Amino acid sequence: MRRTTLSTLPAIAIIAVALMSGGCSREASRAQDARMKMGTIVGITVYGKDEARAKAALEAAYVEIDRVEKLMSRYSENSEVSKLNKTGLTPFKASDELFMMLIKSIDYSEITGGAFDITVGPLMKVFRTSLEKGKAPDESAVANAASRVGFRKISLDSSSKTVVFESDGMEIDLGAIAKGYAADRAGAALKAVGAQSAIIDAGGDVLCVGSKPAGKPWTVALRNPRDPEDFLLKLAVKDLAVTTSGDYEQYFESNGKRFIHIMDPRTGKSATGCISATVIARTAMQADALSTSICVLGPSDGIKLIESIDGVEALIVSQDRKLFRSSGFSKFEAD
Ligand code: ADP
Ligand code: MG
Repeated sequence: MRRTTLSTLPAIAIIAVALMSGGCSREASRAQDARMKMGTIVGITVYGKDEARAKAALEAAYVEIDRVEKLMSRYSENSEVSKLNKTGLTPFKASDELFMMLIKSIDYSEITGGAFDITVGPLMKVFRTSLEKGKAPDESAVANAASRVGFRKISLDSSSKTVVFESDGMEIDLGAIAKGYAADRAGAALKAVGAQSAIIDAGGDVLCVGSKPAGKPWTVALRNPRDPEDFLLKLAVKDLAVTTSGDYEQYFESNGKRFIHIMDPRTGKSATGCISATVIARTAMQADALSTSICVLGPSDGIKLIESIDGVEALIVSQDRKLFRSSGFSKFEAD
């Protein structure tokens, strides 16, 4: 059997943001929108002292998302990342921001033993071709792409902020981290214009800014990855990010095997670590990077990784549909 499914369902549903308790709050005005950005739907809700301020904060957040997209998008030919990918073996002078992203990405590669690797670009091209055809990728195409993957082949010069690829045909892809980073930046942008209470959902990468207007935590509901009508559980969080990565967002099946858009850089094949991984962290970027990494690592190594990092928690749905929680995850679970 062959089946191609491209689901646009966000992994995380934000619920109850619209419910305010009886007008007891001073921050009572709300601005809300959902716009297509970075290849997904980015929903933002901001509370402000009045309507004009809430709206201004909402717009400031979207402006920032557009700016990050221009820098990091793999879809736009003119993004800085696309320009870097076209330079081949020639040194590339990066902006401070992109350079910082590369350094952080390599840090995630180091701490995840290479499960996280932004040099998966060539493998993603092979994946997208097979997704279109609904057919398992060609072994030789995978091997060829895999030979151009490896974070250790990115050479960074901190003083000149230049990047050099050590192997021809390398391509970086910030897809596992850019939406989280964009959510963080959008959160900072709306805070800079005075907003203190907001929720940003960048296609499953959720940043909760502050708390709900009455000081209550935000509720983030986690969808059941095998039943979009159902929820696994609800989280109550303040000033934290929650992201989910999984095998049900972009995938196809061929001969009973599921091919997903997260690659195991060590094999060049689609990751098979788990059905989904949800991470709670202080920044959406960290949560984004770690949730993708766990999809490669699986429950056992995934939980070990989370326990080794301060201030992060995770919930993993294993291939056999069991739930694995890190030691402090339950304290965020709402009734
Ligand atoms: P989503 O973008 O659906 O929220 P993720 O955050 O898990 O999901 O990111 C998946 C994207 O990350 C892929 O589409 C690809 O661009 C990139 N990617 C795939 N595998 C890896 C990997 N092992 N390490 C880093 N980035 C990856
Ligand atoms: Mg991610």
